[in-house]
Amino acid sequence: MSIIGAGPNGLAAAVTLARAGLDVTVYEAADQPGGGTRTAELIEPGTWHDVCSAVHPGALASPFFRRFGLAERIAFVTPEVAFGQPRAGRPAVVAARDLEHTVDGLGTDGPGWRRVFRPLIDRSAAVAELTSDHPLYAPKHLPAAVPIGLRAASLWQPVQAARLLTGAAADLFSGAAGHASQPLSALSTTLTGLTLATQAHTVGWPMPVGGSYRIAEELVRDLTEHGGKVVTGHRVRTITELPATDAMIFDTSVWELITIAGSRLPGSYRRRAARFRAGPGIGKVDFVLSEPVPWRDPDLHRAATVHLSGSREELAAAELAVHRGRIPEHPMILASEPTRFDPSRSEPGRHVLWAYAHLPAGCTVDPTAMIIAELERHAPGFTETIIASVAKTSADAEHDNPNYRGGDIYAGALTTRQTLFRPMLTLNPWRIGKTDLYLCSSATAPGPGVHGMGGYRAAVSALRHTFNHRATVNLSP
Ligand SMILES: Cc1cc2nc3c(=O)[nH]c(=O)nc-3n(C[C@H](O)[C@H](O)[C@H](O)COP(=O)(O)OP(=O)(O)OC[C@H]3O[C@@H](n4cnc5c(N)ncnc54)[C@H](O)[C@@H]3O)c2cc1C
Repeated sequence: MSIIGAGPNGLAAAVTLARAGLDVTVYEAADQPGGGTRTAELIEPGTWHDVCSAVHPGALASPFFRRFGLAERIAFVTPEVAFGQPRAGRPAVVAARDLEHTVDGLGTDGPGWRRVFRPLIDRSAAVAELTSDHPLYAPKHLPAAVPIGLRAASLWQPVQAARLLTGAAADLFSGAAGHASQPLSALSTTLTGLTLATQAHTVGWPMPVGGSYRIAEELVRDLTEHGGKVVTGHRVRTITELPATDAMIFDTSVWELITIAGSRLPGSYRRRAARFRAGPGIGKVDFVLSEPVPWRDPDLHRAATVHLSGSREELAAAELAVHRGRIPEHPMILASEPTRFDPSRSEPGRHVLWAYAHLPAGCTVDPTAMIIAELERHAPGFTETIIASVAKTSADAEHDNPNYRGGDIYAGALTTRQTLFRPMLTLNPWRIGKTDLYLCSSATAPGPGVHGMGGYRAAVSALRHTFNHRATVNLSP
């Protein structure tokens, strides 16, 4: 059994299959497993930066990681505030883990936030099941699907009939919705915002102590304990270079799948997959600082992630510009300072800042100056804290990980159609037609994030369809 790609989804598939008794080998192009969950000394020894993902609500909410017992296997630190957003000339808004705290902070706009999120928090397990499944199976998850559907319909920009979120609450919500990297008018941005903000009030937005790589490390440890192995430094170019096996699982982009599997894919699948579109890119800068970021607003010192996206209207304008291929005047920037919560990530006197901006696909502009300018706007004196930094453009991101075409870190745009039918409209998006080839990456349901659910569902499908194995696999530690 071969798996191509050792990201969290490829590793989740590998663990599930190895625990079902199969002989599993994972082939990984990079020199280290982990894909989007790698942590490295990017600038100097002793200072550890998350190369891609940094903040992990999905890792605690995911049914796969819950069954795997991830929270018992590795330590997480969960900041009191999940996300916050500075606003020019007005106080910052923050989503604390505690709902009432958040509602109080939003003043007269607070009750609307409570009305949207209280029912979702009360059904958080059902919400996690719904959002980690194929959207076509929403009827199986009615207790969550009905309230989420009603809220999505009311919050979706072209409708907004109920005006549930106003003023400060609408600004706060837009920061979470902005993660979709799509125009705010898309229904998919509303669904993304509802999922991420519900997680803020339930599992919180945690970080693994030591960095995101701890997640990959634990998956690899479990895989090897169950007889599987990872071969690193092997970029698979064609299916024929791998040993003939019963089944193959791709933790790759759809485009890489088409290149590697070629004529082994059914013609109709190939034609439909070729219509799948990449999204915009990002530009990332990792900093070593002499001090924590001097945010003007002290509430932001407690946040796992700061969304430098301004008001809802400013964010809408920025995302629209990116969508049209332009660099916005004030791009959406996501920033996180792990060393505020986890001193093990650096030597004393050294602080880590992870920040990236939403930019057009394939953008080759060095994002350092624009990220520093936005930080300086909301944290005067930031520039003096910089000891060193390293930047990555959208083009560099694809070079690092073949899944990130043009710098699209989601391996496929989160348009509404591609969120609901990922990578295409089919009852089983993890199996490729009626073959023994499977797709498990964030290019399939349930989409991006470190949750392992694409890998788990592809593995369960392979067990059922290729190996006629229907028993539930025990994943517990
Ligand atoms: C800058 C950045 C910030 C992010 N922040 C967050 C965050 O804070 N929280 C969060 O949940 N998510 C975040 N994400 C997204 C998250 O990292 C991804 O959604 C997640 O890693 C997807 O997992 P995956 O297993 O599908 O793919 P990946 O993690 O991308 O892994 C795919 C692996 O397959 C390998 N591969 C591809 N093609 C081949 C081939 N032909 N041969 C061999 N190997 C191959 C790649 O090298 C890679 O290691 C971020 C991503 C980036 C880039």
